[in-house]
Amino acid sequence: MIRPVAVIGAGPYGLSTAAHLRGRGLPVRVFGSPMVSWRAHMPAGMVLKSTPSASSIDAPQPGHTLVDFCADTGIRRYESDWDLIPVEDFAAYGQWFAQRLLPDLEDVRVVSVDRTRAGHFELKLDSGEAFEARAVVVATGLDGLARMPRELAAAVPDGPSATGPVSHASQHADLSRFAGREVVVVGAGQSAIESAVLMAEAGASVRIVARRTGAVRFGAAPDQQPRLSPNSPFGRAWSLYAFSYHATHFRHLPAPTRHYLVRGVLGPLGAWWLRDRFTGKVAVTDGRRVVRARVESGRPVLTLSGGTGAQRELAADHVMAATGYRMDVAALDYLGPGLRTQLSTSRGAPVLDAGYRSTVPGLYFTGLPAASSFGPVMRFVCGTEYASPRLAASVAAGG
Ligand SMILES: Cc1cc2nc3c(=O)[nH]c(=O)nc-3n(C[C@H](O)[C@H](O)[C@H](O)COP(=O)(O)OP(=O)(O)OC[C@H]3O[C@@H](n4cnc5c(N)ncnc54)[C@H](O)[C@@H]3O)c2cc1C
Repeated sequence: MIRPVAVIGAGPYGLSTAAHLRGRGLPVRVFGSPMVSWRAHMPAGMVLKSTPSASSIDAPQPGHTLVDFCADTGIRRYESDWDLIPVEDFAAYGQWFAQRLLPDLEDVRVVSVDRTRAGHFELKLDSGEAFEARAVVVATGLDGLARMPRELAAAVPDGPSATGPVSHASQHADLSRFAGREVVVVGAGQSAIESAVLMAEAGASVRIVARRTGAVRFGAAPDQQPRLSPNSPFGRAWSLYAFSYHATHFRHLPAPTRHYLVRGVLGPLGAWWLRDRFTGKVAVTDGRRVVRARVESGRPVLTLSGGTGAQRELAADHVMAATGYRMDVAALDYLGPGLRTQLSTSRGAPVLDAGYRSTVPGLYFTGLPAASSFGPVMRFVCGTEYASPRLAASVAAGG
């Protein structure tokens, strides 16, 4: 009986990994909703922060870059660092990639993964099917990992939701619903700033609340980047160059340094092209943290502390937490308890070897879960170029 390799996830990492496995002649089954994070969990009108040269999904054969997609479909070519890629076009690129290289992709959810006595894996799908795989690649990206500050979560016992008083940024695909309403966005990263801008442009009155004073900052436009530093997919800087092209060495850094770098490098910073759309249109309360939140007559009320003043209250029609994502294997509820207890983790992230294999033989992780091993580049699409060929080689070698 030939057992396939199961790839769980059909975002950029799952698609790229599956294409590389198939390129090596391995039987592969790929599960997930193609590009769903980009189609359903990012707002319409969003623009990618990454440049065109850092926004291709890696494939083992030529002809599948973002530029190839543009040429094939006749849409505008995204090539220069000045070209901004709309999220809709990027989602369409991923779906085009899937149709060409993985036409048998299965749009179903994996509900459980357990180890069999013989050392294989048993997967159950929400279609009711169960089957055995020789290896499993976890590429479920941001799914289930949205980070909600405790203080905000406490105000909504039924959980955050797009239509309730408090939500997480990942719960919105259409921000025009906030036209004419007062919205507070908690956070100061790209997602917070861009969501705030899109809501303000839709006619909402928006305020950002950030912990650090001066937290809202913007990156440099392509012609303002330091000339003497080497180029990388994220801009010109020695550190970014090292993280982009020497991910192997990242694994050898001490764990606290790695976790610090994953959080800090390429951290909260608005894209250069958001500055003009933000300034004067979105209000900012910085140097304040949310210490409590409650809902009063359907409206969220935040208690803020910090600065020199006493605590103050801020009410709105809606509060959106744009507070990012946190890797935690415990949140991957489809991994059976037997597997989870065998997995070595470091601050919630799986410990991986050079071939992306976890401490459970045959169980691999790529994308965000691999960032604490291979660096911040794994949080971005361009990391597929480093990860996918190595992971596929490791699976093929039975590693
Ligand atoms: C607002 C925002 C903007 C971003 N902008 C950029 C950018 O400009 N450039 C960039 O490089 N990166 C950007 N990122 C990061 C980006 O999300 C990641 O680089 C990329 O999506 C990671 O791809 P992935 O394949 O790991 O996961 P995802 O794209 O999140 O895909 C996850 C896949 O897993 C599947 N899945 C989940 N659970 C199951 C299950 N149980 N069974 C089956 N399938 C399952 C889903 O259906 C989906 O197909 C952004 C992120 C956010 C939140």
